[in-house]
Order: sequence, then structure tokens, then C-alpha cells
Amino acid sequence: MSEYLLTTQDLTKTYGRHNAIDHVSMHIPKGAVYGFIGRNGAGKTTLMKIIAGLSTQTSGSYELFGCSGAQLGAVREKVGCLIEAPGIYPDMTAFQNVKAKCLVRGVYNVGYVNELLQAVGLFDAGKKKAKDFSLGMRQRLGIAIALVGDPEFMVLDEPINGLDPQGIVEVRETIHRLAIERNITILISSHILDELAKIATHIGIIENGVLLKELSAQQLKDECAAKIEIVVDKAAAAMAVLQSIGITQLQQINANQINVTERIDESAAVNKALVEAGIAVSKLNVSGEALEDYYIRITGGAR
Ligand code: ATP
Repeated sequence: MSEYLLTTQDLTKTYGRHNAIDHVSMHIPKGAVYGFIGRNGAGKTTLMKIIAGLSTQTSGSYELFGCSGAQLGAVREKVGCLIEAPGIYPDMTAFQNVKAKCLVRGVYNVGYVNELLQAVGLFDAGKKKAKDFSLGMRQRLGIAIALVGDPEFMVLDEPINGLDPQGIVEVRETIHRLAIERNITILISSHILDELAKIATHIGIIENGVLLKELSAQQLKDECAAKIEIVVDKAAAAMAVLQSIGITQLQQINANQINVTERIDESAAVNKALVEAGIAVSKLNVSGEALEDYYIRITGGAR
């Protein structure tokens, strides 16, 4: 069995002459919360619609639960989606909305509806009609509806878009709970890396239809972590000097460069120790990157 719940191979969707997604090869491990980040028009919805079976690719393929092509119909039931406008009836309560979806799927009972409302924190919404919900409540109701049938994989398109800070926290906590308590693998898109990074175990960055980067949350943390970059004449000798003054978090990058990721505020002492040991230090630079700066660097431009 593959460790991946979803892989895409050179997935491409062309509208006219424009590739909305362009040879995307994505890898979503089982159990991941995969944060799919890209600005408006980058191609997130296009890819999600294909995966959800709401659209078809122009070329390329994908494998979902180990199935591809004609076999995909058999695994669609295991996928729950919240893409674009969720199918919410405005004059119904949260309970009635979830009940309606349960009836369509033939899985209705009161206890089950309440369980799903509880899972998204809407158990207390009572008699309030959906049209009077905040945007955050509406998104959570959309998630509850997508949960009907107990999907193993959820595709959530921009569920935090347009929410106020409180709404963002509520939706984020809901998604986190679904992943941890229900063990659901989640593909979630956003244009805000900071927000996605708080819950994602993996990140994929898309720009102009091209998947520029895929990395784990730990790799993202490492890439953005504060470090002292040191350029010297002899990196191997400098490594020994740094270790002799008790530095353990260090990495030799090449014959001349070492990165130190601890005692960041002691760069002057580090420099002194190296110089006293006869090492020529040509550069010593403290750097670190905010997530959004990293995102801008990877996508190569202003937001
Ligand atoms: P947003 O957050 O704005 O939805 P997105 O990353 O989801 O952005 P997509 O909606 O996937 O982006 O759109 C990707 C590109 O494909 C855009 O340039 C868009 O204009 C184009 N596009 C999407 N759907 C169609 C369509 N049905 N016909 C023509 N072009 C389309």
C-alpha cells in the first residue's frame, strides 16, 4: 500500500491557451493536513475540482486511495468536499441542513446529525437559520455537510477566506480536530501561508498553475529558522572550533560555509572564537525569514 492518499502525475487543465494547472505532481501522505497555498487565480480550485470529480483534467492523471482512471468512481464516496458555495439552505437551521444531506445519503438519524454538529462546534446553534449565521458558522456548517458519510479525505477550498480572526480560529480548530480525532486526511487551500502553517503537516505552493514547492511543516520551519551563516577559509577546521565552544546545532553547507542555528544572539562571540583560532571569517550574517517573506521569495514577487 502506498503511503500516499493522493498523488497527481503531470496534472494539467487548459482553458483556451491558458494552463490553469500545469503539469502538477502533488503528493498527499495519508493522515496529512496538506496546506495548498497560492494567490487568487493560481489554480487551487481547478485542481481541487478535478480531485473531487467535479471537473476533468486536460492531461495527466491522479491516483486516489490507490485507484485511478475508471476505478475512481469506487472511492469517491470516501471524499468529502467544500468547494466554492457549499450547498446550504438559508431558511433551514444547522440541524435541518445536515439532516437534508443525511437523507440524500440514506444515513439519517438524530444522533448522527448531532455528532456532526458537535464535530464542527455548531451543536448549540439551535433554532438560528443559516441565513443569520456568521461567515465562520456557515463555513463550519459546510464542513459538517461535507462530513456526512464519514469521508476519509476532505477537500476544503479556502474555508478561512473572508473570516474575521475569531472565525479563523474556530474553523482552524475544527479542522485540527477532524484530523486528530477522526483521522481524516485533509487538503485545504488558502492564500495565507501564516494561517495554513498553523495546522498543516505538509505544504504545497502553487503559482500560475505550477506547483513550485512541496515540503513538510518541519522542512518549512527549518527553511525559515533563524541562523548564523558563516563563510570561512576552512569550514572543516571552523566546525571543530565551533564545537569546542559548545555549539551543537550547526551544519557544514560546503567547503566554506557553516550554518549555526543556536545562540543566534552570540554572533560576536562566535566570530571572536573563530578569528582567535586562526580562521579567516569573510562573512558572518544572521538571517531568518518570516513565513510570508519565504512565500514571496519562492513565488518570486510581490503579493
Ligand atoms: P481563487 O482563489 O481566486 O479561486 P484559484 O487558485 O482557486 O484562485 P482557479 O480558480 O483554479 O484559481 O483558477 C486558475 C486559473 O484558471 C485562473 O486564471 C482562472 O481565471 C482560470 N479559470 C478557472 N476556471 C475557468 C473556466 N471555467 N474557464 C476559463 N478559465 C478558467
